[in-house]
Amino acid sequence: MQEQDVIIVGAGASGLAAAAEAARAGASVLVLEKNHVPGRKILSTGSGKCNFSNIKISPASYHPPSAAFLKKTFASLPPARVRAFFGDLGLLWTKDEKGRLFPRSMKAQDVVNVLTNELSARAVRVQTLTEVTGIFLGEDGFIVEAQKVPPQWDKKGARGEKLRLGAGRVILAAGGPCYPQIGGTAGGYELLRKLGHTVSPVRPSMVPLAVKGNLTELDGVRLEARLDLKAGGKHIARTQGELLFTSGGVSGPAVLDLSRAALEALKEGTVIAEADFFPDYVPAAMARLLTGRMKSLGDRTFSGFCAGLHNEKLLKTAAGLAAIPWQAPAGQLSGDSLAAFAVLIKAFPLEITGSRGFEDAMVAAGGCAASEVCPVTFESKKVKGLYVTGELLNIDGDSGGYNLHLAWTSGILAGRAAAGK
Ligand SMILES: Cc1cc2nc3c(=O)[nH]c(=O)nc-3n(C[C@H](O)[C@H](O)[C@H](O)COP(=O)(O)OP(=O)(O)OC[C@H]3O[C@@H](n4cnc5c(N)ncnc54)[C@H](O)[C@@H]3O)c2cc1C
Repeated sequence: MQEQDVIIVGAGASGLAAAAEAARAGASVLVLEKNHVPGRKILSTGSGKCNFSNIKISPASYHPPSAAFLKKTFASLPPARVRAFFGDLGLLWTKDEKGRLFPRSMKAQDVVNVLTNELSARAVRVQTLTEVTGIFLGEDGFIVEAQKVPPQWDKKGARGEKLRLGAGRVILAAGGPCYPQIGGTAGGYELLRKLGHTVSPVRPSMVPLAVKGNLTELDGVRLEARLDLKAGGKHIARTQGELLFTSGGVSGPAVLDLSRAALEALKEGTVIAEADFFPDYVPAAMARLLTGRMKSLGDRTFSGFCAGLHNEKLLKTAAGLAAIPWQAPAGQLSGDSLAAFAVLIKAFPLEITGSRGFEDAMVAAGGCAASEVCPVTFESKKVKGLYVTGELLNIDGDSGGYNLHLAWTSGILAGRAAAGK
């Protein structure tokens, strides 16, 4: 029944890279995608700019620790080769001060375009609005069952024709459940389980966090901060970067980078993230700054005393927490009140109560045991001819382009290997 050499389930990051590489190696390739377009999630990455890789790719940026596995992967396809893969497709890129790589146009659409152009040039067929529902081993390769589905926005649309397709090899590149609103699904894990793979519980990682208390006055405030995560009397992690207050929670790169550790620690008890909005001032320097300011601005209200110090909404909230009336004469404040205020702006406590869930998560932790796939070809050790790529694997990366990098790398290696069989 083999109608094509390779069927790829999912036209996301790893599926598109796999399709391009398999077709370049001479295989006939069919990509099945349930969304109405290929690469939908890529369009939303990096806030539409697609932080597609990082100049500092190394196994240390992936979780759970997978150094032995990833050393073999990155030796087989060094990060520079992934950059060259995109260069060959015509993509120029640019690097920011943190080593993050973006298309020069700063448009994720260009990343999708160079990939889909390559697929067209290599006669790869991409069948959208087609959901894979089962993968079985036949006498002569794989049978892939699929069904035509309506676009995601058409809630009343009926499911359509059922399909049975044959292929010599299958690359499962169905991604994870994050952002279900643009097609994220846990369905790929179910397909893997049915094929005999071990799938560890999947949870949101790199995700905005919910915090205790009413901080609605800070909604939408975006500030640079250093975050120190503390639990059980211990300092667990530190990040620095943008912090965004959202309704009922916090987000932004500094929070996303801390979220994995925060959610892990939350299983054991209370977790506090202390936000330092003056990381460039040691506590003594902060105290000197405020007492010096009192000499020059002590005749103002506290609101006037604070003007120009930092974000007004933040300072007003901190003043409230320190029980300082915003319009009180600054000069009449006790030293203790000013000291409490200083502590709050250098260690603003955010008690973490949970995550905002898959709807807001960038990546999922958990998934297919990495030990069950080959680190060089991403071929399943359970089912010969099956390949597992991208977020389906129980390896997730830090923010900064690491997740897409692993998606491209695993896709390219799987595509190459699947074509070579
Ligand atoms: C908002 C957002 C921003 C992000 N920004 C970045 C960033 O800037 N840098 C970075 O490195 N990472 C980023 N990530 C993470 C990154 O997007 C993922 O790690 C990456 O896309 C995973 O690639 P993948 O190929 O495994 O899955 P995906 O890219 O999710 O692709 C899977 C595809 O499979 C399809 N599919 C699923 N099941 C089926 C089925 N049964 N039949 C047919 N098709 C199916 C899906 O519709 C989807 O198109 C971001 C994630 C989100 C949600």
